[in-house]
Amino acid sequence: MFAASQVKQDPRDRGGLAQPLLIVEGLKKYFPVRGGVLNRQVATVQAVDDVSFSVRKGEVLGIVGESGCGKSTTARLLMQLITPDSGGLVFDGDPVGGPRGISISELRRQMQMVFQDSFSSLNPRMPIVDSIAYAPRMHGLSAAAARERAETLLAQVGLNPRQYSRRYPHELSGGQRQRVNIARALALEPRLVILDEAVSALDKSVEAQVLNLLRELKARLNLTYLFISHDLNVVEYISDRVLVMYLGRVVETGPVEAIYSRPRHPYTRALLASKPTLDPDRRTRHLPLTGDPPNPINPPSGCRFRTRCSFAQAICSEVIPSLLAPVDLGADAPTDHLVACHLPEAQAAFGEHDVA
Ligand code: SF4
Repeated sequence: MFAASQVKQDPRDRGGLAQPLLIVEGLKKYFPVRGGVLNRQVATVQAVDDVSFSVRKGEVLGIVGESGCGKSTTARLLMQLITPDSGGLVFDGDPVGGPRGISISELRRQMQMVFQDSFSSLNPRMPIVDSIAYAPRMHGLSAAAARERAETLLAQVGLNPRQYSRRYPHELSGGQRQRVNIARALALEPRLVILDEAVSALDKSVEAQVLNLLRELKARLNLTYLFISHDLNVVEYISDRVLVMYLGRVVETGPVEAIYSRPRHPYTRALLASKPTLDPDRRTRHLPLTGDPPNPINPPSGCRFRTRCSFAQAICSEVIPSLLAPVDLGADAPTDHLVACHLPEAQAAFGEHDVA
């Protein structure tokens, strides 16, 4: 589990370990929906709305939520693959993109991403060693040095370079391809790796192997992860802190033990109640979520969860709840556990709907 004292200082570290590696401030992205003969904008998809959080050096921050909650859009905004409507990033103390901050190209060097689809992330006509060596070549390494680096990375992700380096993506299994994608993401020695559903398409046994590889690489290379997944068990296994998103907004965040043992937002509780378990003695008295989230084109006013929340009252439709410390957590409660819910009774209902 995450302990700041165990994090090694990176030579590139500019602000000390107390300074977050990444600060996300008020990120917002609305997509226009066009229609009609003139292709005019007829509606707006509110994909990400006022999302703020930070990622500490050396930790794994998990982002969970149902499909369409804005997790992957958030990842693409962080990588600057799409431009936010508003909000900004600060990377190790430097604002991203400003005249005196870190450039987007330097950000992309220090922050890399692994996608869910292991096949489409690789060039099908390129041997995998060349795919991994491509970015180091573009950053000035000689062909021989880039190839040597690629082969070292292949070995680090558990693929024997002599056996695999000349293979093409279609000659590998899904798990092997994802190992290649991880090697490719590490080629420029990033500090932060965003893993967007990176193990979701793998068989369970291969998934476990890749998760263990990610843990091992994190410790060996002093990495920080942003781990995005819809799989609550996987997020619990690998994360130090968790961010729960619903319909484009953050509804709860905190240390993984606090979120999984004492969830305070009704959505988090319902989400955890639907978590699959192999333990026949494990029962939940809380109802799992039913139905689909509302349409992000016209999300509910106030708290976006109110149309599915059994505690909703008038204030919930009128005022957007802010992320604040939950009620009655006690003196020894973690200070970084925050919940976006107006009503103390909704937050405190955990005792009645215990997840055994
Ligand atoms: Fe949202 Fe209100 Fe339910 Fe809290 S009680 S989750 S604010 S609808």
